[in-house]
Amino acid sequence: MPEIIFLGRSNVGKSSLINNLTNSNIAKVSQVPGKTQLINFFNVDNKFYLVDLPGYGYAKVNKEKRDEWNREIILYIKNRPNIAAIFFLLDIRRVPSSDDKDVLALLKEREQKEDFAKILYVLTKADKLSKNELQKQKGIIATELFVNQMDMIPYSVLSKVGKDVVLRELNSSLL
Ligand code: GDP
Repeated sequence: MPEIIFLGRSNVGKSSLINNLTNSNIAKVSQVPGKTQLINFFNVDNKFYLVDLPGYGYAKVNKEKRDEWNREIILYIKNRPNIAAIFFLLDIRRVPSSDDKDVLALLKEREQKEDFAKILYVLTKADKLSKNELQKQKGIIATELFVNQMDMIPYSVLSKVGKDVVLRELNSSLL
């Protein structure tokens, strides 16, 4: 079955997003970060999987461990044949980290090579910024990542902003 991947640094709001999209509580929110490093597969109606990859870049583990996690994630993305879309999550308030950039570089490489899964940029916790600040951060993140601002989707699990766009993109990636 096709896989829809969710990926982002630890604490970015990945579990919250998955729960919000599925109107459920399937993903664990605010577990001790860095503790469980599992890939979780959520089977949706026997039609596709939502794949929750472990959050990378957790600050409190050493660099060796962080690199190991990044490698695991990269291996997964490189080797899975059935990835239909990748939701790449970024905290709207932060400048992308070097881990973000490393992982994204790999995704882009694969995107170009094989007419592969579309990458969608979800800017989480959008409710924490005013409209003006939100526009400004969008610009900063887009510049840092060499991504078109139009491809970035501000999201909030509280206000539900972005939910319709993400669901639409998810559906169209499965067609
Ligand atoms: P994960 O480690 O990426 O799975 O992140 P979580 O989903 O556990 O979220 C980390 C923290 O951010 C939790 O305290 C969430 O309640 C909070 N959070 C996630 N999404 C949002 C959002 O859209 N708005 C706000 N205000 N907080 C959020």
